Amino acid sequence: MGRSGAAGDRMGNVAVSRLVVVSNRVAPITEGEPTTGGLAAGVMDALKEKGGIWFGWSGEVSAGAESLPNPERTVGAITLYTVDLSRRDYDEFYRGFANGALWPALHYQIGLSRFDWTEFAGYRRVNTLFAQSLAKLVRDDDMIWAHDYHLLCLAEALRAEGKTNRIGLFLHTPFPAPQVLMTVPAHEELVRAMCHYDLLGFQTETDRTAFADYIVRWAGGDALEGRRLRAFGRTVHAEVYPIGVHVEEIRAQTETPTNRRTATRMRASLLDNLILSVDRLDYSKGLRQRFGSFGRFLQDYPTWHGNVTFMQIAPPSRADIQTYREIRRELEAEAGRINGRFAEVDWVPLRYLNKSFPRNVLMPLYAEAQIGLVTPLRDGMNLVAKEYAAAQDPEDPGVLVLSQFAGAASELDAALLVNPYDEAGIAAALDRGLAMPREERCERHAAMLAVMRRNNLDTWRDRFVADLTERLSPSHAEPGLATPASTR
Ligand code: UDP
Repeated sequence: MGRSGAAGDRMGNVAVSRLVVVSNRVAPITEGEPTTGGLAAGVMDALKEKGGIWFGWSGEVSAGAESLPNPERTVGAITLYTVDLSRRDYDEFYRGFANGALWPALHYQIGLSRFDWTEFAGYRRVNTLFAQSLAKLVRDDDMIWAHDYHLLCLAEALRAEGKTNRIGLFLHTPFPAPQVLMTVPAHEELVRAMCHYDLLGFQTETDRTAFADYIVRWAGGDALEGRRLRAFGRTVHAEVYPIGVHVEEIRAQTETPTNRRTATRMRASLLDNLILSVDRLDYSKGLRQRFGSFGRFLQDYPTWHGNVTFMQIAPPSRADIQTYREIRRELEAEAGRINGRFAEVDWVPLRYLNKSFPRNVLMPLYAEAQIGLVTPLRDGMNLVAKEYAAAQDPEDPGVLVLSQFAGAASELDAALLVNPYDEAGIAAALDRGLAMPREERCERHAAMLAVMRRNNLDTWRDRFVADLTERLSPSHAEPGLATPASTR
């Protein structure tokens, strides 16, 4: 298959490809930005096992930075390479196209999507800068695993650098229905670029179907056998890999002595019934609608007054983008309105914490909560939903109230599924969840646990890496398209 044995590490006589992971940010993520828990943990394990490179933005914006990698750092078998972004790159690529136009469209929030061709050019430019830096680092037989919506154009840029490596992309966000994607004026450029990957991984079948639908109905492409799609002169394998969690590890984290102490202190300050939500402060998380639903719950079910606390943990995120500043202001006002209307001298119904917490606080808190309330308007997966379910005591578990539009809903259908836009429906689910008999709670929890154990973080990573390693040929260039001589 044209792979250079001499370049690869060797295990006996078998050449083992190194793994090169590329993501917008390289872990450890800056404190206060807990955005990629699953990504960091899953990828780190894969890299530790196979050895390799992790490449991405350092998180620094520096004057005149032009893709020159910072000094490498080595952690065991892993080498970390980072590049800084210039102010212009940051504004056009990160703040502009990726988070101002693409993120809202991928989450069906087209009214919030702001498109600008200059910013899109900046997005492509940074993908190219990444590719140019990477091209100097990768060996011919390395496997490249890119992550997420920041890097849709990376494979195309690497191909332009002459790289015929196996390249896969896992999209952590949803992939929207074609008519929604098509509101982004550069939709065709994006999908064409995605076809330069060998393997595209999606969170759910719904996301994969939406991509296939675009290819077949709007790009004049074909659905081939074996989950392959052909369009724009390329063939790409598209598969579903729902990201999971380390189930046993999460349960153990609720029980270590330090965490138990933390939990006892928290317990003392809370009422019997805790409803818990944990989200980055992002409009896709449905926080505004959720606050409305909690207000509706207090209005419609007064028997719970004085006996329930709703705790919303919402660390600020992307605070230099206008829509994120607006939602923060709105939520502060709404929290004030709810407490102003319902609180008593001895009871504050809503606790709104606008900061991030480490896992050793979150996990015992999950375990304490009678209800995990997870109601994004759209979410690729939503790891909090899985973490909440994994943290429960199987003998006396809490109830997960979950948005039907979170990727997690396709696996965790034993949760109480709700429409995040239906305030009365969510209020009724809260009432039902708080009053649910133990037997039903145990049954629902056992069903969720079984799915999560089967499909844990290791499964996610192993399936993706195996598909990239074994099932694919190194390049899917169509016959007639020249394969650069450098790899032959
Ligand atoms: N998280 C955290 N501290 C916080 C809030 C969130 O560590 O204060 C973690 C949370 O446990 C989860 C991740 O951040 O692992 C959020 O992942 P999710 O898929 O739910 O949403 P995302 O932020 O990636 O959109």
